[in-house]
Amino acid sequence: KSFADLGLSRPLAKACQVLGYTNPTPIQAACIPLAMAGRDICGSAVTGSGKTAAFGLPILERLLFRDKRVAATYVLVLTPVRELAVQASGARVHSMITKLAQFTDIQAALVVGGLSLQAQATVLRTNPEIVVATPGRMIDHLRNTQSVGLEDLTVLVLDEADRLLEMGFAEEIREVVKQTPSQRQTMLFSATMTEEVKRLADLSLRQPVRLAA
Ligand code: AMP
Repeated sequence: KSFADLGLSRPLAKACQVLGYTNPTPIQAACIPLAMAGRDICGSAVTGSGKTAAFGLPILERLLFRDKRVAATYVLVLTPVRELAVQASGARVHSMITKLAQFTDIQAALVVGGLSLQAQATVLRTNPEIVVATPGRMIDHLRNTQSVGLEDLTVLVLDEADRLLEMGFAEEIREVVKQTPSQRQTMLFSATMTEEVKRLADLSLRQPVRLAA
């Protein structure tokens, strides 16, 4: 199967071509059609498996057909931070989504700690379609700057769920999930499926398809 067989629109197929992606990785081949059909996903996938494009491409495909008369944040990706700021997984996910979206008018904002809260609030007030955030910083904006709302959210991604939980973000994730519409699509990815990850999956996913990379 090639990327063209997955039914992606021209701007996304072109981005894959420019990035040198000719064949989808196994997690992409499995995830992209199911996610495009609107299913919830519970994916066992490590970094390096191509999981970012596995959730990024179907999200962008869906956003191409949004109602452009209303600007809103439709997608939230919660992701952990690594020890070194330059290796922050948020920055990696954000940069990958931005590359995949390069031939579209879709905007993605990065909302992680260590950067100015006010500068982020200014960006969030422009209603970027996609927000890539760490749970702590997202809560900070929801509670304190009130520059972003989750009432229009259509897709929630919990990326590296095991790491998010290891870092002690269970409460923050629950608080964010509670603020999103219940009819959203949710995709959870985790390298390991611990009991805690399963509990988070039970809480956030609806009849998910289980995929392994
Ligand atoms: P990820 O697992 O999402 O962190 O991706 C790991 C690396 O694989 C990234 O550098 C991607 O640019 C690259 N990648 C993702 N999908 C493909 C693909 N279908 N073909 C070649 N490289 C890819």
